[in-house]
Amino acid sequence: MYQAFLIKYAEIAIKGKNRYLFEDALIFRMKDALKKVDGIFHIRKEKGRIYVETEGEFDFDETVEALRHIFGIVGICPVIILEDRGFDALAEEVIRHIAAVYPQKNFTFKVEARRARKNYPLESMEINAQLGERILAAYPQLKVDVHNPDVRIHVEIRSQINLYSEIILGPGGMPVGTNGKAMLLLSGGIDSPVAGYMIAKRGVEIDAVYFHAPPYTSERAKQKVIDLAKIIARFSGSMRLHIVNFTDIQLYIYDQCPLEELTILMRRYMMRLAEHFARENKCLGLVTGESIGQVASQTMQSLAATNEVCTMPVYRPLIGFDKQEIVALSEKIGAYETSILPYEDCCTIFVAKHPVTKPNLNVIRKDEKKLEEKIDALMQAAIETTETVHISE
Ligand code: ATP
Ligand code: MG
Repeated sequence: MYQAFLIKYAEIAIKGKNRYLFEDALIFRMKDALKKVDGIFHIRKEKGRIYVETEGEFDFDETVEALRHIFGIVGICPVIILEDRGFDALAEEVIRHIAAVYPQKNFTFKVEARRARKNYPLESMEINAQLGERILAAYPQLKVDVHNPDVRIHVEIRSQINLYSEIILGPGGMPVGTNGKAMLLLSGGIDSPVAGYMIAKRGVEIDAVYFHAPPYTSERAKQKVIDLAKIIARFSGSMRLHIVNFTDIQLYIYDQCPLEELTILMRRYMMRLAEHFARENKCLGLVTGESIGQVASQTMQSLAATNEVCTMPVYRPLIGFDKQEIVALSEKIGAYETSILPYEDCCTIFVAKHPVTKPNLNVIRKDEKKLEEKIDALMQAAIETTETVHISE
């Protein structure tokens, strides 16, 4: 029935002079996502509107599903594009459209006409009234409700006429690539994939780093993180995932320092290594899934201790969220089922029964002095043995 989609984008439309940059980024993302869908698609930009036009057969559901993952899109409207053959022909098309899309004629409606082409003989209000009359004449069971209609029948008079009545919600946000790039610390848990989603939603491109500790953490745990990266990539576009072997660093800290401080010390070295890869990949910040007070390593004192070693901004989009809110988002983006699969985390092996919740920075710095002999070489080795995987959804 449909051969085209009208794409609605809100926030990016207000960016003034830079608007074309945002539109172009959006179109780039759309093209990328539609590559994986059966069908031939043409994307056209025209005066504050973006159209996806299809050639021949295409998979409607897959197309909508692909577009629903693109930040910057607020609405996906399957649209019928008509040539202007006069008002009678338009009314007939509208009546045909209702017959095709709404087999049950038991709803209220409203016509919402917009006359962008001012030489059209009827004004918007006249189009609303006259089309409404024609629809009621064809389907007397229907009712008009101008305040709260079940169906809004949109008629846009431009060089062509756009007719649409369904709006499928998009994810909102800004097109990825319009706001630089950040390095996500991605673990196999619930939080960090959600954090990645939220930063990408603001238009930020993402690279990710995962610290594993073979043989204490398994291949399966690593595969789980790869799977989570793929889920994020549905929204963020393809990314690089840097898989760092953290075992020797972890064992060295375990050997030299009190067990209660292990987690904080590990997190400091993770941040340092993440920053190295961030710099190497032109990222402007780090992203974590931390939220105040969730665990011992996320008290204000612990966060301060972790943050101390960072020179780049660290973005923590979940900082004020409760676990339930994070879980709801995790489900919404389709990550939850994967996140809750059992796995070993390098942070949970050798973990202290009673980790410090208020780390003292002087103590932490003193602990790190005990690592002076070997830590630089171990960090260097971790960097050199890092495996980088290219992730696309
Ligand atoms: P998550 O659900 O994201 O694993 P969490 O509640 O388990 O978070 P922590 O394990 O304390 O919390 O980790 C806090 C943050 O540190 C994570 O959200 C993630 O950004 C980062 N992080 C923790 N472990 C790793 C790891 N092995 N590799 C990469 N990043 C990690
Ligand atoms: Mg974790």
